[in-house]
Order: sequence, then C-alpha cells, then structure tokens
Amino acid sequence: MYSRRTSLKTPTDFRFPFEPYGIQQNLMESLYEVIENGHIGIFESPTGTGKSLTLTCGALKWLEDHNNLLKSELNQRINEVSKEIEELELEASGCQDWIQAQFGSIQKKDEVNALKKSKNLLEEYEEKIKELRERRTRVKLKDLAKGRKQGATVVEEEGVPDEDLALGDYETDKPEQDDLENEKDQYKDVKIYFCSRTHSQLAQIAREIKRTDYAKDTRCISLASRQNLCINPSVTKLQSSALINERCLDMQKSQSRTTSSDTDGRPQKKSRTSQQARCPYKAQLAVEELRDASLVEIADIEDLVSAGEALKACPYYSSRSAVKDAQIVLLPYQMLLHRKTRIQTGIELENSVVIIDEAHNLLDTMSDIYSSQISLAQLQLAQQQLVGYKTKYCSRFNATNLLKINQLIFITKRLIKLLTPSDTTCSSRMLRTHELMSEGEFFNIDLFQILEFAEQTRLAQKVQGHAQREEQRKPIIEKENELSSQKGLTGLLRRLEEEQLQKKLPKSKRQEIQAESDAKEEEKKPVRTEAIPSVIRPLLAFLECLTECSDDGQVLMHFDSDPKKSGMKFLLLNPSGHFNELVRKCRAVIIAGGTMRPTGELVDQLFRSCPERVKEYFYDHVVPAEAVLPFTVCRGPTGKKFNFSFTNRNNTEMILELGMTLQNICNVVPAGVICFFSSYDYLEQVYKLLVEKQVIANIEKKKYVFREPRAAGQQVERILGEYAVAIADTRRQGAILFSVVGGKLSEGLNFADDLGRCVVVVGMPYPNKNTPELQEKMRYLENTLMSGAGAEYYDNLCMKAVNQCIGRSVRHINDYATVLLVDERYNSDRVRNKLPQWISRNLKTPPMFGMIQGAVAKFFRDRRKT
Ligand code: SF4
Repeated sequence: MYSRRTSLKTPTDFRFPFEPYGIQQNLMESLYEVIENGHIGIFESPTGTGKSLTLTCGALKWLEDHNNLLKSELNQRINEVSKEIEELELEASGCQDWIQAQFGSIQKKDEVNALKKSKNLLEEYEEKIKELRERRTRVKLKDLAKGRKQGATVVEEEGVPDEDLALGDYETDKPEQDDLENEKDQYKDVKIYFCSRTHSQLAQIAREIKRTDYAKDTRCISLASRQNLCINPSVTKLQSSALINERCLDMQKSQSRTTSSDTDGRPQKKSRTSQQARCPYKAQLAVEELRDASLVEIADIEDLVSAGEALKACPYYSSRSAVKDAQIVLLPYQMLLHRKTRIQTGIELENSVVIIDEAHNLLDTMSDIYSSQISLAQLQLAQQQLVGYKTKYCSRFNATNLLKINQLIFITKRLIKLLTPSDTTCSSRMLRTHELMSEGEFFNIDLFQILEFAEQTRLAQKVQGHAQREEQRKPIIEKENELSSQKGLTGLLRRLEEEQLQKKLPKSKRQEIQAESDAKEEEKKPVRTEAIPSVIRPLLAFLECLTECSDDGQVLMHFDSDPKKSGMKFLLLNPSGHFNELVRKCRAVIIAGGTMRPTGELVDQLFRSCPERVKEYFYDHVVPAEAVLPFTVCRGPTGKKFNFSFTNRNNTEMILELGMTLQNICNVVPAGVICFFSSYDYLEQVYKLLVEKQVIANIEKKKYVFREPRAAGQQVERILGEYAVAIADTRRQGAILFSVVGGKLSEGLNFADDLGRCVVVVGMPYPNKNTPELQEKMRYLENTLMSGAGAEYYDNLCMKAVNQCIGRSVRHINDYATVLLVDERYNSDRVRNKLPQWISRNLKTPPMFGMIQGAVAKFFRDRRKT
C-alpha cells in the first residue's frame, strides 16, 4: 500500500464544536504532531478540560487530513511517474544506450502499476463505503432502538448430553487461508483505537464524537465483551462471563443432522447433534445489517444492544465484524492490552493510532492483566474434577488427549504438593517460573502444548460441564443410597419400629414429625444448581503465566495456617514486554489522563526501547489559578505537628488535633467536604476516637456526617445519594464525607461544585512496604533500571493515589475548591514535584493553622460575592 511522502502541516482549525480554550487548542496541535511524527505522547490534562473531546477532534482531524493528502498525493504521483515514463521512452528512441533507457522505463512502469493498483483499491474501498452509507440512509439505528421488539423465542436447554462433554479431536479456530489471501488485496484504512477504563467512559466518548462535525462521516464502532453485548436471554442468564463465552461458542459449533427423509430421499426433519440450539441472533443477514447500521451511525453499547434486539441480530458479532471498516474503535483496556484478546477481536495494530485514556494506572493495569493466582483449594478441586472427568470419558479419549489430561493432572498434583510443604514455618516464598517448574518436577512438560490442547478441545468448559452434572446428580445418588439402605430385612424392621413409636405419640406430635420429614424430603429433591465457578480456567491461566519470560515475572507462594487459604500468584514485574508490540507496530501511541504525574516510571518501564519517541505534555487546569486554594497543613489549631507515618499515626493527641482541624474547616467551608484516609482500618480507628471524644457530634452541629462503607455496590451508591441530598439541605451547612484513598470514591467519581468544595487528604497513603509482592517489585526495579528506582516506585504509588483524590474536585471551568494535604511530609520539593501542576503552582505551607483557616474562610467569602 502507498505511503505518503510529504508531511502534514499542523492546522489551527480542528472543527472543534465551539471556540476551544487555549489549552484545548494546544493539546489538539500537540496531539496532531505526535501522530504525524509517529511519536509516543504522554498527555496530562486535568478533568474538566474537555480532554476526551480534544483528543478525538485532534485525532480525527489528523485522520481526515491524512486520507485527503494520501489520495491527492497518489494521483499526483501517478501523473508524475507517467510523465517520467513518457520522457524516458522518448529518450530511449534516440539514445545509444537503449538497454539502460529501457531498464529505467520498465522500473518506472512497475512503479506506476503499483501506484495504480493502490489507487484502484482505494477507490474500490471508497465505493464500498459509499454503498454502505446509501444502503443505510433509510433506516436509522435510533429508529430501530425506538421500535424495539421482543427478543426471539429461544429454546431452553435442559442439559448437555454426554457426547458433548467428551473431548473432540484438535480443531482450529484460525481464519481460513482464503480469507487471509483476500484480505491482502484490500485497502486498509488507518484506524484509531481509543480505549478507556469503563464502558460508561467509552459511551461518553461516543457522545462527544456525536457532538462534532466529524460525526456524519466517521465510521465509529464500540466493542465490548459478550457479557455486555449478548442479547440471547438463555445465554445472558448464565451471568459469568466465562460461561457466556463458552455457551455462545458451543452454539456456533452445534450442527443439524438429518433424522428422516421423504420417499425421494430428500431430508425431511432435522435434529440437533447437540442439545445447544444455534443462536437465533447469529443469522448472517441480520448480523450484517446491524454491522452496516452501526458503521454509519455512531452508537454506544446500549444503542447496539437495543438495535440488536430490534433486528434480532447479535450486537457482539456485528460490532466485531465492523472493526475492519471502522475508522475509530472504542474499546475497553483489556481488549487492546491483552494480546490474545486483541487477536481474537481482530484488532490489527499495524500503522494504527492508539489512544489510551484514563491511563494514570497503566502500569498496574498491565501487571494485573497478565498476573494470575490460584489457591490450594482451587487446585485440589481442579485435580478432583480432572480425575473424575478422565474416569468417566477415558474410553473415548484418543492417545494424545489421554496423554495431555494425564500431564495436566500430574502438574496439578505437583503444584498441590508444593503448597503443602512439611516445613510449616515459612509463610511465603518467591520463585522464578523455571524454579517452580523445576521444584514441581514438570519442567520437561511442554506447557504451550498443554495450553493449546486445552484451548482447542475447550477442556475447561467440558470438565466443568461434567463437574456440574455430577453436582446436580448428588442428591439423586444420595436418595438412591438411602432407599437401598432401607431395603432388606433390617430396613423393614427399622420402618416398622418407627411406625410403632409414632402410633404411641399424640396426633399433634405425629403431624409435627410428618411435616419435618416432608420438609427433609423436599430438601433432598434434586434441584438444578446454578453454574459453579470453573477451577480449570484459573489453573490454565496460571500455567499460561508460567510460559512468560522467566526474567519478567516471579511466582509468590504463600502458606496459611488454614491450608485452604494457601496459594500461588504470578506477578508480572516487567510489563514492557507486553507493551512493546504496541510501540513497535502502531504509528503513534497516546497515553492520556487527568493526573499522569509522576511519569518517570512510565517512560522507564514501558518505553525503555525508544525514549527518543516519547514526548510529554502537561496542561494546566481550565479554571483560573485563583479558583483552587491548596495548602499543606503541617500543624493543627494548637500547634501540634501532623505526621501520619506508620509509627506515629496512632498518637491519640495527634488524632484529636486532626478532629479539631476538621471541626474548624467545617465551620468555614460551605457545602461538601470530602476527607480521605489511608485505609478503612485507619478511618475506623480515627472515627471511633472522634465519636468517643464528641468531635463528630460537634461537626454534626454544622454538617451532616457520612462514612464510606467497606462493601462495594449499592451501599456506596446509597451513601453518595444521601450525601448529595444532605448538601442541599438548608438546615445545616452541607456535609462531610469520610472516605478512603484508593477506595470506591477516590477514583472515577465526580464531586463537582457543592459536592466537593474542600478535599482533605489525611497523611500519605504509602502501601505496606513489607508485602513480598511490593518488595519483589522494588527489588526488580532497582536491579533492572537504576539505584533508587524501587524507592521512586514506592513514592509514586503513594502520590498517584493522592493525585486521584485531589482530582475528584474542580471538575469544570466555573468550579472552585480548596485542597488540604494534612501531613508535614507533603512539605518537600520531592513530593511537590509529583503533584499536578494546577496544585503545586499555588501550594502554600503557612506556619500556623489559623492562617489556613482564615485564608479558606476568605476564599469562600470572595466566591460568594462573585
Ligand atoms: S451469537 Fe451473540 S446473541 Fe447469540 S449467544 Fe453469542 S453473543 Fe449471545
């Protein structure tokens, strides 16, 4: 395919939906340059600065300019080369060295042919897109969603027959060779992959793109897992993502077979070879119709699901098949960062632009995606299930299947043995992957082959299916055993004896006994149990980790006094290995977030191979400097120093000084105050003391008091709702919410305006340095990067968490807030340099608390006036 020869000039007009602020204009221009020059851009732009909109407009403008220039350059080049051929041929006619002249002309002809081929492919592609748009102009996605119909009636499965659980021969899911050949001759548009952490963030991006001028011409598709996009009720009811995947794949593979024929031998009746019906939503025409519709109209996941239900077309397969013609693909992190998922989704990185938004935790996300753990209890259950499965289906296995199953059982046994050592004094051990395999005596088994075998035979699903069936049959077997124990003379005598005894009892007692016995019988009746979680999948995921490069990760084995809680965890220490493919293949990679600082470790760990490509951009907040009032609070109202280090944080006097500080702050801050503590335990400890000493009661005279619950889910939502209501309640002056750094409220939530007029961070939330995981990570960084890299990483963990808390407030251009960092350790240049620029530029450390309180009171007084 033709590559551009001339560079694009950075424009000033990005067709932004309104007049951009200075920082938005700067960001779009820098982004454009990063993409054009094939760089890796790290962009920090605080929340409220319209980051997503600027990123999309900057990238779409580049894409538009790139496509236009490529096309005009291609035409121009064809003309130029054709002219050169003419000249060469003219020269050759009157030239002595006609062989040389002919050779030059042939070379030029080859070039012009290649250019024309590229042009043809491009025109064919444009024609295809034009047709697609014309086909879809009459029906709109949103109309489909409005006219949403009832889902198709789906056959409920009663169970899975035996033959479906036995292992088949190796199969391959790889694309057909013909498909690959056809793909080679197709024009491939440059794609922008835009990833974010959550689906709601991605839906927000889709909405942002809809607001722009680009919306009508941009082909944008949203990707998600089957769990989010499946519309088959008989599959979605399984709830677990793994089970939904398995059931869907099963349905794709089920086939019909003829069971009878008419007198002429024509097939009459078909029955399924498997109990699983083919999914009624996978009909090709319907899937293609939804694919086309979603390519010409920007849709988020909800739109896709609604339209899928209306068309009775699977949104999961429609969106996946749309990827190859999409220009911008919105997808969650996991789909892009996990290599296997990326390949299965059909994502091609070559020459693409990758934008990773909300990337402040990118390193940890990479490590989490590629880390895996398994407990002793899971291993024991896996062994039991594998043995049970083998016993049941042994006679149907071929030699290869039997060998692989035996190897897997052997490995499982060895891992169990390693987790049940005779020496029980040791609580944890760190091993390299090859050491683990060597100690486990399975170093000579090819794990790649085992994993391939498991994937191709879908072993996990089959073993689980068998285990589930056995689980369901248990009550029946128990009942049969019981009945058989009641047979015979002994059983007869026992029943007679029980009847005699009962006859002697009063009627009411007899009725009571009968009711009890009926209830027991009811309990024993076979019930259809819910899907049990698979233990083979975690086992396979763990084995997959053992195939990682031995230098990139280690296995932490931990031994508990309760052996069931012992387990092993693979820790990925070097995420760069997995990120390299992106860096190598993509045209440009953009890493963006509201709080990206400190960025040193990101560059050191992910872009070590190409530091020259990395460009960093930090943007100020859109709010004016005077809209944020940040302080380091080193002393409380009575002058007592604040130092919440691990050794000092239990100091009762200091906690009471903190209570006094909060009380004073609540007196001068209107509306909402959010106060972050380093952990739930510490919050509980402080809160208890403040309740005992009446501090909370005093605060409650001014503000309503709320505390973040440990449990996730609805309780958090309820507290948040009550907090918002309390702030609007005029009987008191707002509310204070006690929360936890790294908790449910410290990331991703928006405390705009009155919800967060003051953010207080109590202490520095350093994680426990003594955990083997953290120690190993720090040691690894010291050894592979430079001396001090481990300590830097430790500092960064703390400061990234603090920055997330701070970023909850000041969410738009008219917002304002005060930020109090309560600990003397914040008063250092090292820490200050790790804070976002919009905080560090104004951060002050007055020597007395009174000065802070006075300044905060004045800040809000002045705001009330304006
Ligand atoms: S084909 Fe689509 S709708 Fe059907 S089971 Fe699979 S994901 Fe669900």
